[in-house]
Amino acid sequence: MLDNRGVWVFIEQNDNQIAGVSLELLGAGRKLADKLEVPLAGVLLGDGVKGLCNTVIEYGADEVYVIDDPVLKNYRTETYMAGVYKLCQMYKPEIFLYGATPNGKDLASAVATDLSTGLTADTTMLDVEPESRLLEASRPAFGGNIMATILCKKHRPQMATVRPKVMKALSPDQSRTGRVIEEKIGIKEEDVRTKVMKIVRDVNKKVNLADAHVIVAGGKGLGDEKGFALIHELADVLGATVGASRDVVEAGWIGHEYQVGQTGETVTPKLYFAIGISGAIQHVVGMKNSEMIIAINKDPNATIFDVATYGIVGDALEILPKLIEQFRNA
Ligand code: FAD
Repeated sequence: MLDNRGVWVFIEQNDNQIAGVSLELLGAGRKLADKLEVPLAGVLLGDGVKGLCNTVIEYGADEVYVIDDPVLKNYRTETYMAGVYKLCQMYKPEIFLYGATPNGKDLASAVATDLSTGLTADTTMLDVEPESRLLEASRPAFGGNIMATILCKKHRPQMATVRPKVMKALSPDQSRTGRVIEEKIGIKEEDVRTKVMKIVRDVNKKVNLADAHVIVAGGKGLGDEKGFALIHELADVLGATVGASRDVVEAGWIGHEYQVGQTGETVTPKLYFAIGISGAIQHVVGMKNSEMIIAINKDPNATIFDVATYGIVGDALEILPKLIEQFRNA
């Protein structure tokens, strides 16, 4: 009989700043914990991170398991895995969620291996069945053509990494109270095989699609790089961020960091322009949660119109110069 209990969220922090995805997962975890009538816990590892426990509680946790130790200053698989593994062995969570970030994916797969349990990667939907207590973790599969719901029937905890920006964080509530449980890692720096020699920050990364409020995204319908230049022009006039479909990236008109979709960024701006983009499912999964979507496409049957708030049927190469002029003079 499985005696695991509680929904856990790994609280990823960088330089003692909690990652947005961890707050989103506290929101998602709260719903699961309420359905199962169990506590929701945040799992916080780092150096000098105790001060973040209150934030974790304000965003929905009932409990915070914290290991605060200089050996956890920078993320390293070896130390973080040891800490998380120890907590799991001691407190036995039923469900454990991680952000699908580079560190979250690395940690979750290492922990799953050590605990001999399953892991659903890159989840975009979560639910739980109160009777069977099974986590229903769904993600696009077969090139995005179907949504697969994956169950972990035998092993505990049931683990999933979840894409940033697909779940909603709760509004912080400073009146919330919770319990902080402190544990020790029991590892000395000299025993750790991995050393962080230097941290090199990518100062050139200009594009931040995930946090953009307005995105002007272009597709193959722009014809060529010259046509795609109109996307940059409209984005400039609106103070927006440029986005692109994968076919545009593959054509070399723009870098991969601008790609929206299943194998690019997931975005939730207030306004998303989809211009000359067909609306393939792999693109749509990355932008369908935008507050407002304006699509321009010369094909009235283009599937992008299925998710658009407003649609303009016409030639983008004729419409864009007019829009740019109008916005410039506005
Ligand atoms: P097209 O499909 O060529 O569509 C161009 C559109 O422009 C058409 O609808 C056409 O009617 C319209 N058009 C043409 N001329 C004009 C004009 N003058 N004015 C206005 N409209 C015009 N794609 C992504 O975008 N992101 C991903 O992350 C992604 N991941 C993928 C992962 C996998 C495993 C696979 C198999 C595919 C993935 N794709 C992804 C690719 C995806 O399936 C589509 O091929 C791609 O999104 C199509 O790009 P597009 O809409 O720009 O081009």
